[in-house]
Amino acid sequence: MTDKVQLNLPLAEVALDRDYLSRSNANLFDELWLNPRTRVLLMFEQRVLLTSTSELKFFSPETVSSSGLLVFLGNTVQAGDPIVLQVIDEQTALSIEADSDRWHHLRRSGIGLSSSEAAIFTQALALANWHQTHQFCPACGGRTLVQKAGWVRFCEPEDREIYPRTDPAIIVGVIDDQDRILLGSQGIWEENRFSILAGFVEPGESLEAAVIREMQEEAGIVVQEPKFLGSQAWPFPFSLMFGYTAKFAGGNVIPDGEEIVKLRWFTREELKAESHALMLPGKLSIARSIIEHWLGEELQGQDR
Ligand SMILES: [Zn+2]
Repeated sequence: MTDKVQLNLPLAEVALDRDYLSRSNANLFDELWLNPRTRVLLMFEQRVLLTSTSELKFFSPETVSSSGLLVFLGNTVQAGDPIVLQVIDEQTALSIEADSDRWHHLRRSGIGLSSSEAAIFTQALALANWHQTHQFCPACGGRTLVQKAGWVRFCEPEDREIYPRTDPAIIVGVIDDQDRILLGSQGIWEENRFSILAGFVEPGESLEAAVIREMQEEAGIVVQEPKFLGSQAWPFPFSLMFGYTAKFAGGNVIPDGEEIVKLRWFTREELKAESHALMLPGKLSIARSIIEHWLGEELQGQDR
């Protein structure tokens, strides 16, 4: 295992002081709307606007109404400027920017952002996705109210607070005794797309146990010595990816045929030689970071 490249996690920078104490201020948004340093990030169907130089486009409060879903994301680490996410509807979005191609997805445009702006987009998107899917109480089905500056949804009849959700998933670079890495291809992917294997952590399960179970299920193999490398949020819709390596310890490599349809061991030379012909994980992903960590250098070729 080479350690020349540290795990490079493009979405994991700490860009904001989340300032959780301010979330309890009932007048927070009124105060923020009077604060000339406040910057508002508008989000429409998971997308945001960028400036002509491909940075996140923020609005000053006096230029936008305070309607729609508001979430206080925190204060920028460097300047201390408050950042507010505002989730807007189609009518509002199109009145601000009618060309829908100018509203950008994180997956497609995030790689052009600075790491701090990519982190802000990631946080905003994860929260917007949670609100989108948690408008009703999971216990009684009643409509929930937004509280605590967008960090809690509240079920009034039951006096129940519902907190933002993050789904843990493990993703694993399996390495054999010849120092090769195992890549797989999912049935729903293009023919030549390959990545390392991943799966959700199940209730009552540790991360390490999930690594061992998922590799058994998806590839029919036994792995051991799961080694944690790093983590980053993956807000599609609200996952948190835990990156691991693990040692191949036996078993016949057989795709499960359901999720994974192809599996193949790659040497470094093979992966470098074929990287232009293969579709490999995008530059925002922890999958690519783990492959590059093993490879000892940046992957050349496609980012898609
Ligand atoms: Zn309820």
